[in-house]
Amino acid sequence: MTGSPDTAEKSAALFARAAQVTPGGVNSPVRAFSAVGGTPRFITSAQGCRLHDADGQTYVDLVCSWGPMILGHAHPAVVEAVQRAATSGLSFGAPTEAEIELAEEIIGRVDPVERVRLVNSGTEATMSAIRLARGFTGRSKIIKFAGCYHGHVDALLAAAGSGVATLGLPTSPGVTGAAAHDTVVLPYNDLKAVAKAFEEYGHEIAAVITEAAAGNMGAVAPHDGFNAGLRELTRRHGALLIIDEVMTGFRVSPSGWYGLEGVGADLYTFGKVMSGGLPAAAFGGRAEVMERLAPTGPVYQAGTLSGNPVAVAAGLATLRHADVDVYATLDANAKRLGALFTEALTAAGVGHRVQFAGNLLSVFFTSAPDTPIVDYAGVSATETWRFAPFFHALLERGVYAPPSAFEAWFVSAALDEDAFSQIAEALPAAAEAAARAPHPDQSDRSQPGETD
Ligand SMILES: *Cc1c(COP(=O)(O)O)cnc(C)c1O
Repeated sequence: MTGSPDTAEKSAALFARAAQVTPGGVNSPVRAFSAVGGTPRFITSAQGCRLHDADGQTYVDLVCSWGPMILGHAHPAVVEAVQRAATSGLSFGAPTEAEIELAEEIIGRVDPVERVRLVNSGTEATMSAIRLARGFTGRSKIIKFAGCYHGHVDALLAAAGSGVATLGLPTSPGVTGAAAHDTVVLPYNDLKAVAKAFEEYGHEIAAVITEAAAGNMGAVAPHDGFNAGLRELTRRHGALLIIDEVMTGFRVSPSGWYGLEGVGADLYTFGKVMSGGLPAAAFGGRAEVMERLAPTGPVYQAGTLSGNPVAVAAGLATLRHADVDVYATLDANAKRLGALFTEALTAAGVGHRVQFAGNLLSVFFTSAPDTPIVDYAGVSATETWRFAPFFHALLERGVYAPPSAFEAWFVSAALDEDAFSQIAEALPAAAEAAARAPHPDQSDRSQPGETD
């Protein structure tokens, strides 16, 4: 047995030491295991589909750094590209040819994208896209959907008030009422609510922002026609459509969710896969809109390290190696993992639904397994207390799952037969642990929409 809790001594000591110098001991909240309890594993190295921790344990990785590592960890071609770039200098604060190549690669894959600006994180991409949408339209309000996460941008850390089309309330201290007030939060997959909001706020709405397919409340795919309906409504009312593909982009197909559905947005945001694991992200879209950015236009946006040569090299090498075979393997691996969940949970008599959004997947514990989970209210109503025992039983058996019931699971193309055997061997005990989980009196500690 690998990775049992009593062998996490070194991680426990590092976690205690980290908490002395960093809030909660982590640099991004979900890493602290708050939703599942226990000791976060401190990682020392990773190769292919496996993570190695400070206690010498090895895990099959089903998180993939929250998405970027589609080729697996330390892929030789990516590492070589990074080494070559690093040898030539780490940052210039001046343009490079590789930045053009990465922009061309993105534009070549996603038809509606005519111009790209590189930034350093998905948060920066959505923040900049919203500023640009407001600058372009001269309007203030933004529509977002409950349970969709777009990074920790002030205006997007808003929760729905009561009623269907209410103005947002801040979900975090430090976000002003004013920042949240311009955000209208609606239920995901509810086009009628969007139509009603447009009737009510009409030409105050600068943009609708949506995850291409929701992945940050667990995998919740858009209904057929939902994204197309948003396209239609925004066009009719002179607002922009921003499709956030930070999670889905270049993962669920060579062209991301756009490649599966073909709904064209005015602006897109990208991150995760496109940077191959280094800090880079992008936003892009129609030339007419993008050209309003400085220096061609008046909407200011900048970054000392934007287009960093090492990050760009990692992103380019990853995308260039992500060919049709890689995408076919990702899809097959996701299906295979989903089938293993179903087999083990069915055998243990645990009510559940495995939901897919392309090759993103989530397992939801529910007593109504035939009812699709389509929005935040739906995921919030699942039996989330079964998740922590399920998670820990997997971890003890060397399978590293996302440490929250409200996250998607990420496969890589590097998962091999041994990895699948290990997952298949671990799942029955995990399913038993989920079956035995006691119903808590207090509500679950984790929240949909939290992300790493
Ligand atoms: C991860 C994520 C972000 C934020 O990206 P960061 O690089 O963590 O800032 C934004 N949108 C979506 C859909 C994401 O999954």
